[in-house]
Amino acid sequence: MKSKVYYFIARTQSHKDSMSKVKGPLSLEKIGIKGKVKNNDKIVIKTHFGALENERYLRPSYIRFLCDYIKEIGGDPYVAESCGWGLPEEISGVHTEYSGRCNEQEYLNVAMQHGFTHETMGAPIIMLDGPDGIDIIKQPVAGKRFKEVLVAGRLREFDYLVMASHFKGHIGTGFGGAIKNLGIGCVSKGGKTQAHMGKEFNYNFDKCVAECSKCIDLCPSGALTKDKNKLNKDWEKCCYCYMCQSICENKVITFDNSTSEDLITQAVDSAKAVVDYFGKDKIFYINFAIDITWRCDCGPSDLPIVPDIGILSSLDPVALDQACIDLIHKSPMVHSSVLSEIKNFPNKNTSEWFSYIPRINNETNKLDYNIDGKINKTWDLQLQLAEEIGLGSRDYTLINVEIDVDKK
Ligand code: SF4
Ligand code: SF4
Repeated sequence: MKSKVYYFIARTQSHKDSMSKVKGPLSLEKIGIKGKVKNNDKIVIKTHFGALENERYLRPSYIRFLCDYIKEIGGDPYVAESCGWGLPEEISGVHTEYSGRCNEQEYLNVAMQHGFTHETMGAPIIMLDGPDGIDIIKQPVAGKRFKEVLVAGRLREFDYLVMASHFKGHIGTGFGGAIKNLGIGCVSKGGKTQAHMGKEFNYNFDKCVAECSKCIDLCPSGALTKDKNKLNKDWEKCCYCYMCQSICENKVITFDNSTSEDLITQAVDSAKAVVDYFGKDKIFYINFAIDITWRCDCGPSDLPIVPDIGILSSLDPVALDQACIDLIHKSPMVHSSVLSEIKNFPNKNTSEWFSYIPRINNETNKLDYNIDGKINKTWDLQLQLAEEIGLGSRDYTLINVEIDVDKK
């Protein structure tokens, strides 16, 4: 059976069809949240507050009006993100385009600078994997790559999950929407490292420096000890923050890079583990297909590649992401965007934009702006793998929701 996807176009005529105040909450109502929520059910809205230098993240009012709607139907809303991988700036001493979101303290500071606070949301803001990213649930999964995933631990506190995702491109996974918000956004700090790198740690103890104790001092679980030069790890104690790997300058602890295909496979496995843990029937998905940049919200913004599409909602994350892709691929490109720099579109009539956006070159591990117009179907692989693993269906019915602005 085809999955239903509700579609609210981005154009508005009056305050009665406002994108944030009206269409956002209505997109939740259409997928049946009102009939399920009982008094004081705890509902967590998972979104993304944007990296510090990003400007195209979701505006706070979109999330605020979802919080208000959840209260209106009797629920108790929370707004959530999860800790980024790597070292907090306080420890690393450097600010990069991906940093500033590695623990609760620094991420809440970025969130505040982007307008997300308890006051502006009317709801608490939390890290789903705890203040240091080490509150984990080890969830078994029958994945292509993983048998177990480090799901964000605070999910255990909630009755329902609302996935409020900004739909945009991504240099590794082709696009980021509902599937990626599950697989990367709802796992712990270590779960993100595993989804990105996917490999076991390699320990090369010969490189360990006798007088160094950096990783031991940093380890939040006391899992590391040293006997002369020999580093020992108590696997039972380890809570998989991977900060020992990040801080070691001597390459004692390493793992290999993943290709884009690896990353997609691992992110999809992780998404399935999150759904298996939380329960398919307790998750509601909204994609905000606006400010559709080629790059995700973890780095700086660029111009959108197509005009705003609107808000889409569904109970099926695969159908929802597929519908967003299809609408974007039917749109004209923004002529001053990165797509205008492509010199050789193989097909002049193409509008399969996600096949052409900048991507990571797997051989050099560097960003390729793709001015030669090479086709890359990572977006299609993400949807294909998500369907294969049972996250949902690519087959859907799009239901246009029109709002009568003349109605009194
Ligand atoms: S051993 Fe490494 S990954 Fe495990 S808790 Fe300690 S620092 Fe984190
Ligand atoms: S940080 Fe590296 S060199 Fe230092 S103790 Fe840990 S493994 Fe050894």
